[in-house]
Amino acid sequence: MTDYAVVVVGGGHAGCEAAAAAARMGVPTALITHRFATIGEMSCNPAIGGLGKGHLVREIDALDGLMGQVADKAGIQFRVLNRRKGPAVRGPRAQADRQLYRQSMQAAISAQDNLEVIEGEVDDLVVGPDGRVSGVVLLDGRSFSTQSVVLTTGTFLRGLIHRGEETTPAGRLGEKPVLGLSTRLETLGLQLGRLKTGTPARLDGTSIDYSQLETQPGDNPPEPFSMLTSTITNRQVDCHITRTTVDTHRIIADNLHRSAMYSGRIQSRGPRYCPSIEDKIVRFADRDSHQIFLEPEGLDDRTVYPNGLSTSLPEDVQYAFLRSMPGLEAVRIIRAGYAIEYDYVDPRELRSTLELKRLPGLYLAGQINGTTGYEEAGAQGLLAGANAAAAVQGREPLILSRTQSYIGVMVDDLVTRGVSEPYRMFTSRAEFRLHLRADNADQRLTPLGIATGLVGPMRAAAYTEKAAALDAGRHLLQSLRVSPTVARRAGIAVNADGQSRSAFELLSYPDLQAADLARLWPETADIAPATMEQLGVDAQYAVYLDRQRHDIEAVRRDEQR
Ligand code: FAD
Repeated sequence: MTDYAVVVVGGGHAGCEAAAAAARMGVPTALITHRFATIGEMSCNPAIGGLGKGHLVREIDALDGLMGQVADKAGIQFRVLNRRKGPAVRGPRAQADRQLYRQSMQAAISAQDNLEVIEGEVDDLVVGPDGRVSGVVLLDGRSFSTQSVVLTTGTFLRGLIHRGEETTPAGRLGEKPVLGLSTRLETLGLQLGRLKTGTPARLDGTSIDYSQLETQPGDNPPEPFSMLTSTITNRQVDCHITRTTVDTHRIIADNLHRSAMYSGRIQSRGPRYCPSIEDKIVRFADRDSHQIFLEPEGLDDRTVYPNGLSTSLPEDVQYAFLRSMPGLEAVRIIRAGYAIEYDYVDPRELRSTLELKRLPGLYLAGQINGTTGYEEAGAQGLLAGANAAAAVQGREPLILSRTQSYIGVMVDDLVTRGVSEPYRMFTSRAEFRLHLRADNADQRLTPLGIATGLVGPMRAAAYTEKAAALDAGRHLLQSLRVSPTVARRAGIAVNADGQSRSAFELLSYPDLQAADLARLWPETADIAPATMEQLGVDAQYAVYLDRQRHDIEAVRRDEQR
């Protein structure tokens, strides 16, 4: 008998999803993390979702994970990015109240059955005589036996903070780095590398002159992430937009030698698609201005996050360049920005279940696998936690195909190609993005989650009801047919090609409204608006999906090989 079936190390975004997933599968699980109070901490920007990332959140939600529901409880500005483009590339995003996010995640973890939280630092792993991981040892001497371990240590492994000329060993600002585990992973023969990421200064909102700035409101009404959230109840706030100026660029260029990154002190690679302001000035030297979003960090919090200004310049230079921007002439810094370097494990060491090939029973998820971002971490955590539990239960592993989900795309990219810079999700990484939409994540994944034991009864019931309504609606719309003459008489512009069309086909016409269908077929008025809207998106993509089915099958066969 072991103390726990699954031990998850680290209560960040990957760790929370991993622990909750293993516990939902019904196995006794422990989440060991430095401090309960930092569970759900957003180390960088207080926002969830966006392009590609929003898809991941919906997929986590479809598998009954926590991130979508927590973001709905903490969200203070919701926007669907790319709303004017097709549904396949729309990205739901929410600005979160940092404190509410932490509290909601901590409440979700506390409410989870089969899950115990232990405060402490895991310093070492125990490997049994059979070559499987069999326990963890904490820095304070306690040890726990287990059948599976999920490591989700984020930026903590040999973390080193850089700001200007100063370097400080730390896992995050104000938190100690983790040293013992890196050594243990090396002695296991794993390939470790170094990556870096950075964060901007936090600003005092009371020192910003908003009168000069463009306002960016959220969507009204806000669209939740989770299928289980009916409405967003938090007060919603505006963001603001400022810009870097010629002066900003000059100040940064003049001080590049003082940037930890450009002085050569940081050798490791940072996220290319989330570059520091120093990077932007050097790489896009022809541009004389960059847009900066000023995002409030909470409803009762004066802290403002200047999105787009991550930096490792010293504090005095941060002050100088910030004050060269409109609205920030008198800005006060609450906490200066910094860069952090940390160890990651080459994800090619992993199977598609996120279990290490060399050490059965040990799973890795999140930043430790070379990714960046809460959503990427959460999605891997969910998969690793589910697989750690499935292995204990003797169930089939949960392996997601790239034809089925963004999670599948990410894991396949990681385990087959590895990383040379922090990996983040984009819609362009998916071959079948017309199929992998944020709006149909539940249709793609919830049935699988129910079959795997990952989805709890409440979501299963909600999904079954929704799926039945969609099936009935689709069936009805496919059974109703109309000739071009009759359709045109009802004011629906179709080609006079003599071919009859189903109501489902008509629904794919961009300008067609549910009311147009109801004029022809009054019984369609009984289809609920949300069901009709989803059927409309499905109808729009049905024709492309039919064409792609062949390619999807070919990729699935390849993956199985
Ligand atoms: P984390 O959220 O880091 O959580 C790790 C958790 O594990 C912590 O709770 C820690 O206390 C715990 N822990 C670690 N080791 C142990 C141990 N041995 N024993 C017990 N507990 C342990 N992402 C972006 O997408 N864009 C950005 O611009 C960006 N900038 C960032 C800037 C900074 C300075 C930092 C620190 C992170 C940044 N991120 C950014 C990354 C984002 O925060 C991470 O990708 C995400 O938090 C990773 O989630 P995680 O669960 O892997 O790890």
